[in-house]
Amino acid sequence: MKLSCDEVLAARLLGGADAMVAAHVATCPRCAAAMDGLAAVRAALADAPVPTPPPGLSARVHHAAAPLLAANARRATHRLVGRALAAALLVLPVVVLVDLRVVQAVYAALITILPAALGAYVVASWAVTLTALLALTYAAIPIVAERQATALARTIHV
Ligand SMILES: [Zn+2]
Repeated sequence: MKLSCDEVLAARLLGGADAMVAAHVATCPRCAAAMDGLAAVRAALADAPVPTPPPGLSARVHHAAAPLLAANARRATHRLVGRALAAALLVLPVVVLVDLRVVQAVYAALITILPAALGAYVVASWAVTLTALLALTYAAIPIVAERQATALARTIHV
C-alpha cells in the first residue's frame, strides 16, 4: 500500500510512524521539509494542557447517539433474523421430503394390520400433527433469532 503525503504527515503528527512512513519521508522532499514543523507542532500539542470535558458531556453524547444506536441494533437484528430464516428454509425441502417418506412408510405398514380407512385416518392425524409442529418450529425462528440478537447487542454495548 502506498501512503499519500497527508497520511504520512498525519501518522507523524499522531505518533504512528512506522517503516512505510519512514520510507515515504526518505523519498518525498515535501514530507521531509515538513518534518521539523511537524515536530514543533507535536511538541506544542504535548505541552498544552488537556481541557477537562464539561460535566454531563458523556450523558448528552449518549442521549444524542441513542437513536442511531437503536437503528443500528434494529438493522443488525433484521439481518440476523433474515439469515436464520434463510438457513431454516434451506433445509425445509429436505425435512418435508423425509416426513413424506416416513408418512408413506408408516401408512404402508399400518394397512397391513389395519383396514385402509383406519390406517389413512391415523396417518393423516399424525401428518397434521407433524405439520403443526413444523409450522410452530418455523414460526419460533424469528422470535428466537431476535432474542439472540438482543442478547448479543446487550453483550456488545455493556
Ligand atoms: Zn510526501
